[in-house]
Amino acid sequence: MAFTRATGKHRAPSRLTRRSAQVAGAAALATAGVIGATASPALAAGSAASTVETVGLTQVTAIGSSLAAQIEAQAEAQQHQADLAAKAKAEAEAKARAEAETKRRAEEARKAEARAARAAERARLNSFRLPVAGSYVTTGYKSGGSLWSSGSHSGVDFRAASGSSVVAVGAGTVVEAGWGGAYGNNIVLRMTDGTYTQYGHLSSIGVRVGQHVTSGRQIGLSGSTGNSTGPHLHFEARTSPQYGSDMDPVAYLRAHGVRL
Ligand SMILES: [Zn+2]
Repeated sequence: MAFTRATGKHRAPSRLTRRSAQVAGAAALATAGVIGATASPALAAGSAASTVETVGLTQVTAIGSSLAAQIEAQAEAQQHQADLAAKAKAEAEAKARAEAETKRRAEEARKAEARAARAAERARLNSFRLPVAGSYVTTGYKSGGSLWSSGSHSGVDFRAASGSSVVAVGAGTVVEAGWGGAYGNNIVLRMTDGTYTQYGHLSSIGVRVGQHVTSGRQIGLSGSTGNSTGPHLHFEARTSPQYGSDMDPVAYLRAHGVRL
């Protein structure tokens, strides 16, 4: 009989059920007392024993049910905590993934920007320009005149007021920087493509032999030193550093993308 009425692990008795059980128990005890006083001791004892047994079971059942309810409530609370923890963990993981993705995208954008900057820098370094910004040719290549020892102009003259900034037309290395006789103060650069450019009649020289220069870097100031009739920049393009290996400077600059 003790096992016919399952306490039920997950079934908590209602408040009413528990109260009914207590009331029934009290009534049974009262009955047992009456029986004990009026009936034969044996019967009374038997009835009392039976009743007590029943009452005891009811109480055990009630206590057991209450305990089960507590256990169940505790289990539910634990499950709830576990669910909350799992939810929090999932949320934290999702947040971490989102942050990692944001970071990855930012890194990608930064790399793309760096690539673009490098490409722009390469383009700048590889680009050619006029030796004097905004200037123009005043005396052409191979033009005749008594001024030149060869009888013909080995370069071109660019208009340049004294002290104008003279820049490297492209990237290269300084192979000559100093006095050049008829050229006055002059600079010769070996360009990265193996050709040479020369800048003459300078009033001052701002680089030294062996120095690497980027395109557009100022290398000196224009002047009228050497065999010159007035301030201007004498510019030559050559296949070698030697005088006489000159080529058309205008065609040379145009071939390198300079508009003039
Ligand atoms: Zn000249």
